Amino acid sequence: MTTIDDLPIRDDLRGQTPYGAPQLDVPVRLNTNENSYELPGEVADAIVKAVAAEVKDLNRYPDRDAVALRADLADYLGHGLTTANLWAANGSNEVQQQLLQAFGGPGRSAIGFGPSYSMHPLLAQGAGTRWIGALRDADFGLAPGAARDEIERHDPDLVFLCSPNNPTGTALDPEVVTAVLDTARGMVVVDEAYAEFAREGTPSALALLPEHPRLVVTRTMSKAFGFAGGRLGYFAAHPAVVDAVQLVRLPYHLSSLTQAAARAAIAHRAALLATVEAIKQQRDRIVGTLRERGYRVADSDANFVLFEVGGDQKVVWQRLLDRGVLIRDVGLPGWLRVTAGTPEETDAFLEGLR
Ligand SMILES: *Cc1c(COP(=O)(O)O)cnc(C)c1O
Repeated sequence: MTTIDDLPIRDDLRGQTPYGAPQLDVPVRLNTNENSYELPGEVADAIVKAVAAEVKDLNRYPDRDAVALRADLADYLGHGLTTANLWAANGSNEVQQQLLQAFGGPGRSAIGFGPSYSMHPLLAQGAGTRWIGALRDADFGLAPGAARDEIERHDPDLVFLCSPNNPTGTALDPEVVTAVLDTARGMVVVDEAYAEFAREGTPSALALLPEHPRLVVTRTMSKAFGFAGGRLGYFAAHPAVVDAVQLVRLPYHLSSLTQAAARAAIAHRAALLATVEAIKQQRDRIVGTLRERGYRVADSDANFVLFEVGGDQKVVWQRLLDRGVLIRDVGLPGWLRVTAGTPEETDAFLEGLR
């Protein structure tokens, strides 16, 4: 039987394993930070209508530049952004891949501060970009001086910051982003996939865009918007950055069905984002309850919580799964991550953990 090892695959991909969060059919799925609430009926109907209107024209390619969608996204973000500042693709993973293709590549490097989003190094590797795995401090924080030191030492072509950070949950102090922007020669990508869940008073890096043409802020509709299956991610940056990714993007990468569905979802954003407050309440309930029970828990600005299990996390993960509750082992010894979903899902998780 032929296996991957028998193929003339790239040397740097030999022996690698693909991204693989388990997709298991269990009653309580709290492992990939999806929004647990299904779309409200009126929003689902509006999306179906918008998609239906496109179907007869599927003989034609979609708008290659997704101009109307980018205008909608600019309007949603505010901060004086316009269509020229926005770029969209099939998930923020794809926009990050495009950024790596344009600004990374063979002979170039990207740095990140772990524990952080496991896709950043995988995307870098796929784009032939050397990954530099710098570390956060023992409390998962990142001090401006420490970030600056690592960047001076390695002089990377791209810096990945994640705020609020996955899997720890905590947002970065804006001073870190400023320190990195002031030090780095390369592009600075701030992954704000969870921005909508941040606690009161947590600023977005979007505010820094006017003075920083090498800053890129990536966002997604996969989490707060409850649109993970729709696959729509985007970034905001200087218009020159949008020009740069157009050199590497596939022509017509964003289907007309995706564009129409995403636009309908954005038009109904009040209804979709209405779940954010309820999810934040469950998040704070998980943090509070676990701390009452004596667990060490990271502060969370996201829709998930990282906590120390006080033993082998693999055992706790399996025992929860045996009770029908799937959470995430992010490979951090002694720690597990749980998504905040509905009150009933929180009940099941907290009861199961007990
Ligand atoms: C979930 C997540 C994303 C989202 O990826 P999509 O491709 O937009 O679904 C991006 N970044 C981080 C840190 C995430 O946790």
